[in-house]
Amino acid sequence: MKPFQYIRPANPKGAVNALAQNPNAQFIAGGTNLIDLMKRHIATPDKVIDISQLPLKKIEQVNNSLRIGALSLNTSVAENKLLQEKQPLLVQALNAGASAQIRNMATMGGNILQRTRCPYFYDTALPCNKRNPGSGCGALEGYNRTHAIFGFSDKCIAVHPSDLSVALTALDAIVVTTGPKGDRTIPFTEFHRLPGNQPELDTNLQKDELVTTIIIPDGPFTKNVHYLKVRDRASYAFALVSVAVALHLENNIIKEARLAMGGVAHKPWRLTAAEKVLVDKPVSATIFQEAAQVAMQGAKAFEHNSYKLKLGPSTIVEALKKAAGIA
Ligand code: SF4
Repeated sequence: MKPFQYIRPANPKGAVNALAQNPNAQFIAGGTNLIDLMKRHIATPDKVIDISQLPLKKIEQVNNSLRIGALSLNTSVAENKLLQEKQPLLVQALNAGASAQIRNMATMGGNILQRTRCPYFYDTALPCNKRNPGSGCGALEGYNRTHAIFGFSDKCIAVHPSDLSVALTALDAIVVTTGPKGDRTIPFTEFHRLPGNQPELDTNLQKDELVTTIIIPDGPFTKNVHYLKVRDRASYAFALVSVAVALHLENNIIKEARLAMGGVAHKPWRLTAAEKVLVDKPVSATIFQEAAQVAMQGAKAFEHNSYKLKLGPSTIVEALKKAAGIA
C-alpha cells in the first residue's frame, strides 16, 4: 500500500474543504471497498480523509420522506423499525448484500459508491479502461461471464455491484450532496452513469462533493415488494442478476409498479417500459411474463454471459410473483 496522510475533519464542511485542497485525496468511511483498492494499488490517494465520525447518521421521517444519513451503517438501516415498516424493499436488498460483518462496517454512502467487481479491474497486470483510461478493456474479448447486457460501450462492459442501489432506483430515491458550491440533489436514477467514453467515472458525483443524505419518498410499497438476487453461492457473492419489485395492488389490480435490475449494466437498470405493461392489469403469471419480455428488449450478450438473456426474464417473473404473493 502506498503511504498516505490521514486526517479526520470535525464536520462536513471541513471534509469538503480538505478534499478541495488536494485533488488526490479520498474520503474513507467504513473502508470495506477502499482498503481493498488501496492494497492492490488501484486507489492510490496521497491523503485519506476519515469521514466516519461526521454527524451524518440520522434516520428520520421529514414531511413525506425518510431521510437516511449517508454514514448510517447498512446494519443500522436494515434493523431500523421505521424502514422495516415503510420501505421493506430497501431492507431486503440490504440484507441480500455482503456478509453480516461487512454490513456492520459499510455505510449507505459507501455502498452506493462501491466500485465494480470486474476481475480485470482488480488485476493491475491486465488492461482496464476504468482503472487505467486508454489501456483497453480486458473483459471485452476475455472472460465476461459476469458482465453487462445493457448500456455498455466498447470501452467498458462492467456492471455496478450494489444491491442497495437497485432498490433505491426502484424507489425513486434522491441523493443529497454537499460541496464548495453548496448542496444539491440528484435523482437516484441519474446518480450512476453509463460507461460511454469515460468508464473511469462511475457516477455523476463531482470530485469535490460529499454524499450527505439519501432521501426516500413515502409510497404505497409497504407490502407487495420483493428483492430477488441470483448469485453463484448463497452468501457473500455479488449478483449475477437481481430484480427489485415494488407493487401497489388494489383488489388484485396493479395500480403502480416499480422494477429495477442489478448485475446487468454499469448502473442499476430501471425497467420503465415493463412497469407500463403492468399498470391497471390484474395480477397474473401471463402479464408478468409479458412485462419480462418487454424488459429484456435491447439486451445483448457477450461470449460468456448469454445465460443472462434467459436468467433475466425468469428472475423478473419470479420476483413479480413473490411480490404479488402468487409464488
Ligand atoms: Fe475494465 Fe470495464 Fe473492461 Fe472491466 S469491463 S476490464 S472494468 S474497462
